[in-house]
Amino acid sequence: MSEKGITSNPESMATVIEEFCLAVWEETGSVVEPVDWGVYDVLDPQDGLKRVTFDAELAQERDDCELITFGSATFEELQKATHALGRIDTVALPWTHGKLPGMLIEKVQKLVHLAKCRPTRVINTREQTSAALQFTFHVTYQMADLIEELVPVVLDLSSLADITRYRDALGASLHDVSGGGSLDATQPRPVVSLYSLAQAYNRAVDVVRSIVVERIGEIKTDYAAHQQEELEQSRQYYAKTVKILQQQLHSATDAERAARFMEKISATEADWARRQDDIARAYEVNAEVRLDQVRLYWMPVIRVYAEAQQRTVMLPITFDYYPWARSWAVVVCSRCYQPSTELWYHPDGWYCGCG
Ligand SMILES: [Zn+2]
Repeated sequence: MSEKGITSNPESMATVIEEFCLAVWEETGSVVEPVDWGVYDVLDPQDGLKRVTFDAELAQERDDCELITFGSATFEELQKATHALGRIDTVALPWTHGKLPGMLIEKVQKLVHLAKCRPTRVINTREQTSAALQFTFHVTYQMADLIEELVPVVLDLSSLADITRYRDALGASLHDVSGGGSLDATQPRPVVSLYSLAQAYNRAVDVVRSIVVERIGEIKTDYAAHQQEELEQSRQYYAKTVKILQQQLHSATDAERAARFMEKISATEADWARRQDDIARAYEVNAEVRLDQVRLYWMPVIRVYAEAQQRTVMLPITFDYYPWARSWAVVVCSRCYQPSTELWYHPDGWYCGCG
């Protein structure tokens, strides 16, 4: 009996490889320039310039580019490179004297509703330096194919809010030297984080865990059709075998032969059950997550000091504005760190009602 092994969808596989390679090149400081659809020139300080593609058809059509795919030398080198990437670096965003948006009080009141409080009052605003930590995780999804991905998680250290969506703005600001260069002593002093490095790390692990769980679901969906196909081929094969054995059983002339066919039928059925288990196991997805790199960003924020009145007590609360992203920092619960639109006061912080 011959059954097809797991065949991956070549197009989606090529995309995964492409995204992985582009991410590694970005992290390792290679210059990548798209020259044509699906064709890139890569300038690497060590290997020099090479023209590459991830598309097998393109590679066949044109003889000027190297195909990068599973098992190709370049892909394996890049995989090795990621193992040596582990490092920590610190970068500072240039201090940009960004302006707070107008209608400050209205904007602040819209950020979050403070339960059982009178409308929030703004007391003061101050330019400060805050910090964010970017954890880059290397995730390997193991099944018949090996899928490797780099997953960045960026946390604002003053709240542990997940601000990964501002990663591009952080990166873009780094290269923007027009703002006046890096931090120096004349600039606002760093804010000390309320959270320990261990708390930040555990929070990043929680974030990456939910990303990985979702991704495993996607990968399973991608391969579901192949799994069904393989099961169906296998089912047809066993059904045919059993049918032939049953015909032989019916035409058996003596009890001894009949018993032998009955044995063969039950052995075939047991085989089929084992085969189904094997197929299910082949499509299980395991993920291995490893912290690859950590980057600390010093980032300018405009901190808005505000207060909300509850009965006769004034309760303090702060909001941050990121001038480099022209966005407000996400307001999160100080217990579960989830973005919140309504918060309740507790002497330890503002909570969303969790726990
Ligand atoms: Zn909460």
